[in-house]
Amino acid sequence: MRYEQLQQIAIDLNSVVVDPDWRKEASCKGYDINLFYLKNKQEQISPEIIKLCYGCPVRMCCLKEAIESQDSFGVRGGLTEKQQRVVFSKYRVLKRSISTSQVSLGMVKSENTQVNRRYYMA
Ligand code: SF4
Repeated sequence: MRYEQLQQIAIDLNSVVVDPDWRKEASCKGYDINLFYLKNKQEQISPEIIKLCYGCPVRMCCLKEAIESQDSFGVRGGLTEKQQRVVFSKYRVLKRSISTSQVSLGMVKSENTQVNRRYYMA
């Protein structure tokens, strides 16, 4: 997979809202979990497993959850660990730049809007 495709996945992940029930739709349900992990660096994940994973209907939820929990082990979303690290790093950069621009535009919501209001309503 090309670098640009991995970058696009990172961009797309920003708008993914994770459905709490996403696991119900997982294509890997019922498979031996060991098929998704490498036991050593000489091993390769089978192309069939990568294909199954890439075609999974909940692959973006799976990837987003992996990012949020900083878990890039094993194949997820049809991506190898190395590909996931590229996506995760781009995603974090994007997320940081989005929150920085929101702060500079004054768009970040205060957790306590009442406290916030006291300042501008006083
Ligand atoms: S993306 Fe892959 S690892 Fe994730 S739920 Fe789907 S099949 Fe399983």
